[in-house]
Amino acid sequence: MKDFICPHCKSKVSSFHQKSHIVPEWMHKHVYDNDHRAIGIKMNHDFELIYKGHRGSFICKECEDVFAIDDRNGSIILRKTESLHIDYHEVILDGYNRRFEAWRGIPYFKLRDFVFSILLRQHYYLASKGKRFTTEKHLNGINKIYRSENPDDLSYPIIINKVSDRSILAQPFIKKVDGQFIVEFIADGFLFQIVTSSHKHSQSSLSYRLKNDGTAIMLEFDMMQVGSFRASLPKFGELNLQKGYKIEKWFTKKNS
Ligand SMILES: [Zn+2]
Repeated sequence: MKDFICPHCKSKVSSFHQKSHIVPEWMHKHVYDNDHRAIGIKMNHDFELIYKGHRGSFICKECEDVFAIDDRNGSIILRKTESLHIDYHEVILDGYNRRFEAWRGIPYFKLRDFVFSILLRQHYYLASKGKRFTTEKHLNGINKIYRSENPDDLSYPIIINKVSDRSILAQPFIKKVDGQFIVEFIADGFLFQIVTSSHKHSQSSLSYRLKNDGTAIMLEFDMMQVGSFRASLPKFGELNLQKGYKIEKWFTKKNS
């Protein structure tokens, strides 16, 4: 019988879990039709029809169970937001009204691990197909933080934005923005970015990241900006520099 080595836990197993998702199935709710089919955006910006989300057989059953816990945590945090404190703000930028959300009370470790677990799964999925994703160095770096209670969250900052259209789904892909490499994926109305550059991280990525005090600033993007894959961190930078906004301001309650 052929043995398999799980790329995540390095265990020797007789078989892998059959159908592991990369982006969890609950994030596909708004992209599915009645037959659980969805339109996905490919890395080359083409569209593709996917059935029940991207799945593959690339990790052992134990690791699948661990990632399933992350998926459940992600679902509770991002969908049942009543327990969080969210302030809504609006500013004018480039002639548009832009919405921001300032989130507080986020269970930091759980959301961080949820985001990292998707990056890890995409790495293992692509590796199982002989394709490269993140470098070994970054894979090891993220694995070192994943599921640890290391409060140092500066190595791989996570930025979470909102997307006005919840029916967009983009599998994790790597892009370069403002000289920084970023893993980005879009699902269920959220645009997740994980900075994987070795260089010093930009001030904007550090300012707007998910922080271990449970706060995050989320800028809302519209379809046009997301569809073109142009919008990203520089927008935050511009906002901060040109308008002189103080981040703390977004955490203050609106006058009611
Ligand atoms: Zn495993």
